[in-house]
Amino acid sequence: MNNSYVTLTIGRQKNIALIAHDGKKADLIRWCEKNKEILKLHFLNGTGTTARLITDKTGLPVRGFSSGPLGGDQQIGAKIVEGRIDLVIFFSDPLTAQPHDPDVRALLRIAEVYDIPIAHNAASADFIISSPLMGEEYVHYVIDFNKNVRDRADALRQ
Ligand code: PGA
Repeated sequence: MNNSYVTLTIGRQKNIALIAHDGKKADLIRWCEKNKEILKLHFLNGTGTTARLITDKTGLPVRGFSSGPLGGDQQIGAKIVEGRIDLVIFFSDPLTAQPHDPDVRALLRIAEVYDIPIAHNAASADFIISSPLMGEEYVHYVIDFNKNVRDRADALRQ
């Protein structure tokens, strides 16, 4: 691995973000109920409405950010940048236009930049939650942003 990357460790207890578009909220709540015993072992976060509904229906503690259309997806993206979200479960609705589609795409992009696992449908979420890595530390390689800024500033300095 070249020196443009740093190694980061995702701990055994993951900071998980849970998000569902309205048409998929019932599916995500069912998925959370089904996987409750595993989810209990981790720290749960979510966009506002999703977080509240999951807590109401399953009793799982979910820290709520703003509602997705009001900036909640961007808040979760910012937490990824800060290293405070390790995994995203996002049940998106491909059949309904979303007013905050640019924010959703921004979240997907930032998850890609930081090599954060992101499930975009139920099957992907099932594969991730049943991975042995859910209970282990995971070391991965992420762009060294300090070096990136230094190098770019050096290259662009007049
Ligand atoms: P919500 O946001 O949980 O507040 O509904 C989810 C979304 O639509 O991004």
